[in-house]
Amino acid sequence: MASSKKLIYKFCPMCSTEMVSKVSNDEASQVCPKCKFEFWNNPKPVASIIVHEAGKVLLLRRANEPLKGAWCLPGGFIQWGEEAAEAVIRECKEETGLVPDVCSVVGAYNIDNDPRGMHIDIIFEGKAKGSIVLSEEHDDYKFFEVNELPSVIAYKHREAIGDWRSGT
Ligand SMILES: [Zn+2]
Repeated sequence: MASSKKLIYKFCPMCSTEMVSKVSNDEASQVCPKCKFEFWNNPKPVASIIVHEAGKVLLLRRANEPLKGAWCLPGGFIQWGEEAAEAVIRECKEETGLVPDVCSVVGAYNIDNDPRGMHIDIIFEGKAKGSIVLSEEHDDYKFFEVNELPSVIAYKHREAIGDWRSGT
């Protein structure tokens, strides 16, 4: 599986001056020598959900690159000003048509295997109502027994399902 690519700004996104690399206290950043804009390349927050029914977990198969063909939980990027729990409900509706009743957070996972960048995935669990209608982001879905998960699962979703299972 591809690992995360580090994002580098060659030019300042604020004033277009060439950026300079900086390391202080072992923390690497890029700084604009003109306007002092500093880019930290922090991980982006993502929210995902383990939708379960009778102990089985809903996974979706990615229809597009990156990670095309890999199975994953419903989820996506948290938007500006949005709570993680709001984001996971919105993304689950968009991707599956299901409305989840978010129960609790399973954990926060450092996603270092997504070629788009480094992410922190806040993973919830809950049940969901409705009938499944996939978006164009996925081409298949299935409720899997936890001991019969598919071999290729994206991100840290296999670990999260394991943690959820061992905590119940
Ligand atoms: Zn600048």
